[in-house]
Amino acid sequence: MDSRPAKNAALPGLAAPTPMMVQYLALKEKAGDCLLFYRMGDFFELFFDDARVASQTLDIALTSRGEHGGAPIPMCGVPVHAAEGYLARLIKGGHRVAIAEQTESPEQAKARGGSKALVARDIIRFVTAGTLTEDSLLDSWASNILVALAEAGGEIGLAAADISTGYFEVSCVAAASLEAELARLGPSEIVAAEGFAAMPYGTIERPRTDFDSVGGKGALAAHFGGGDFASLSRAELAAAGGLLAYLDHVGQGKMPFLKMPVRREVQHYLLIDQATRDSLEITRSANGGGRAGSLLAEIDRTITGAGARMLASDLSAPLMDKGAIEGRLALVQWFHDAPLLRDSVRAALRQLPDIARALGRVVAGRGSPRDLGQIRDGLDGARILRERLGAMAERPALLESLLPSLDGHGAMVDLFTRALVASPPTETGQGGYIAEGYDAALDALRLAGRDGRAAVAAMEARYRASTGVASLKIRHNGVLGYFIEVPAKNADPLMAAGSGFTHRQTMAGAVRFNSPELHEEALRIGQASGHALAAEAAHLEELIGHVLDRRNAIAASADALARIDVAAALAERAVEGRWCLPDFVAGNELHIKGGRHPVVESALAKSGDRFIANDCGLAPDKRLWLVSGPNMGGKSTFLRQNALIVILAQAGSYVPATSARLGIVDRLFSRVGASDNLARGRSTFMVEMVETAAILAQATERSFVILDEVGRGTSTYDGLAIAWAVVEGIHEANRCRCLFATHYHELTRLADSLDALSLHHVRAKEYKGDLVLLHEVSEGPADRSYGIAVAKLAGLPPPVLARASQVLEKLEKGRAETGGLAAGLGDLPLFSAALDAAEAKVDAVRERLTGTDIDALSPRQALDLLYELKGLAGEE
Ligand code: ADP
Repeated sequence: MDSRPAKNAALPGLAAPTPMMVQYLALKEKAGDCLLFYRMGDFFELFFDDARVASQTLDIALTSRGEHGGAPIPMCGVPVHAAEGYLARLIKGGHRVAIAEQTESPEQAKARGGSKALVARDIIRFVTAGTLTEDSLLDSWASNILVALAEAGGEIGLAAADISTGYFEVSCVAAASLEAELARLGPSEIVAAEGFAAMPYGTIERPRTDFDSVGGKGALAAHFGGGDFASLSRAELAAAGGLLAYLDHVGQGKMPFLKMPVRREVQHYLLIDQATRDSLEITRSANGGGRAGSLLAEIDRTITGAGARMLASDLSAPLMDKGAIEGRLALVQWFHDAPLLRDSVRAALRQLPDIARALGRVVAGRGSPRDLGQIRDGLDGARILRERLGAMAERPALLESLLPSLDGHGAMVDLFTRALVASPPTETGQGGYIAEGYDAALDALRLAGRDGRAAVAAMEARYRASTGVASLKIRHNGVLGYFIEVPAKNADPLMAAGSGFTHRQTMAGAVRFNSPELHEEALRIGQASGHALAAEAAHLEELIGHVLDRRNAIAASADALARIDVAAALAERAVEGRWCLPDFVAGNELHIKGGRHPVVESALAKSGDRFIANDCGLAPDKRLWLVSGPNMGGKSTFLRQNALIVILAQAGSYVPATSARLGIVDRLFSRVGASDNLARGRSTFMVEMVETAAILAQATERSFVILDEVGRGTSTYDGLAIAWAVVEGIHEANRCRCLFATHYHELTRLADSLDALSLHHVRAKEYKGDLVLLHEVSEGPADRSYGIAVAKLAGLPPPVLARASQVLEKLEKGRAETGGLAAGLGDLPLFSAALDAAEAKVDAVRERLTGTDIDALSPRQALDLLYELKGLAGEE
């Protein structure tokens, strides 16, 4: 039931809503489908359905307050000081939150509208998954991406930003690769114009007018204070415009940090679609979708949060430009070959705070003294690192290009070192973040405060002596300020007329007093500390100004540090695993010696088992390997390890092999037959076929495809027929590099007709009646399928195994006599002949049609023509 009231509803016969309710409802209207946090004193309160949702998600008490429309108003609330934690849980729960703050003090409200005036409130910000900057709401090692999508001129524009670090990119994507691009980015939130055609699930719809290319160009120019955006397409401008408009909306006019947008040429990156990412578990594992168990988690040895985020983004978007890849590799190699240097650089990085995120908060207007301290310490560390790296001989080109960004902040760092205490606090309320000696006037105010406190201490001693109450104390709290307190039983002397004390409060066991002397001293202290706080705030403002002025240079330093972290970390991992430097060649080859699957290898190592390394050799004349062998023999592992090696190499990493020579891959596809994936509940045969269709449509000669047990999700005959045709199609039409694992022994016959196809198998043998899986990939077809032996390994009861052996014997006899499942397939015309036949039919129909003048036909002739066309199409 939706108990949300209609706008300003005052139902007939019922009391009109209170002024507060009217204000609340107006704000709720503005908040739309976001939960509204309505500030009341020290709490954010939620009402109506919002309260129900929040109380459930947060597991907090649902109460009620007053009435609306004759019914109690459901309410729940969270304390302001603890709001971040609650916000985090609501955001994780898929909600968005509008924060309505008091925009004036109660005193201002009274001055404005009399004693009963309602304090004005307004939404100051929307908190949404894609627009967070708070440390506590973000994972330090993961980027947090907001995507905006737009259509213009028949193209899709994509703008993506991580406002916690200022990252901003735009690109033009083909409709077919939109899903792959979104998979690469893994956005926390997507916005698009109302009516956007290819709306991904969960997209937030925004007004069309926000996604306008002309407006977008203007918004970019306004935000960046000029700049040339002429190279961006209309779709890109529209997407960027939509992104800026959304950020303006969520920040209610306060824009976060954005670097100049990078124009991303989608075709410069290895294309990996969602299904391939899932099946290869590149940045997330298949079970549960977490980071643990993924390739990323396996190789990540970065030290800083920014490094971890950059590594994730590198692995998600491997490069295709040989020069750029080799540039990254040269830096990794440099660290690889210099262990002492690597150790010292990594030790230095360990000390560095996350400058990028601190900068993001400062620019978003939520910077704290602690953020400034982090920026100072991070930049100082960057300078020291630069000195150390700059002193090394023969620096790789990539490092050379990074070094200048590490320096140049000396004056600001010096200023911040003088201005801020060593570890500044997050909160500004208590002051104490501006260092002693930075500002003489501030020091004097602080001294006055300290003197005052010393005077109060002396006063306390004097009062104890004069009253004879040894337990008398002068205390301070936020409500009363300074007061004198004695136990109730000792209160009489102070209560006496002419004692010089005035009574303020009687508590359970104590009585509180004031004295004119204390009052005066308290006033002096209060004034001094108020002025001191204001002086500190003014300094903070000024320091923030310095950061804002240098935001781009600071961001460049942060990026350079992250790149150095990534390179040193990859070097560390390579040394650990004895990985090799990949070698890139011009042709479409893939030659890997001693290749290993890094994730499986470390899982095995934990239980003391050894991983068996295997070779792979694909080249244009041997581009398709058919890999057969028993279940659990290691086929999937072998297929995947080669795909992972391609990803690692093109991301600029060493690879788990003794040698690797490869021609750059443009698209990578990995598909697993349905039954392997049934546990996830989504891979039906249909999904398998949709995915296979995508490969056949998209793989080029430069692509690398691994297909694992395709055709497994249907009946034996269907499955074999489909697998057969898919192998032929890939061999003849796509001509890409491909590893095809199958349990259909019959497919091995394809080796006779397809000359670039070769047969391989994972070795197994039976030893004393038991199956031994060797996990070794060898030439030639598997001699048997070992299904029953695998079943025995799995613990099928002996009577069932014995019976299965009998049935198998019978079936095999039948096969020997009839030629088996694939009998007669050897006589099939070639795949290309089938293609030609399909083409020829279409062409004859087209020729007949183009030669016909429809207007000159009588009804009878038209009917005849239809019959004739049907005949030409071979359907008669
Ligand atoms: P298949 O695809 O043939 O059914 P998998 O590739 O799933 O087999 O491998 C099954 C198990 O065998 C893996 O989980 C792993 O423990 C082990 N394995 C696979 N390849 C190797 C290898 N090269 N060396 C050692 N163990 C391996």
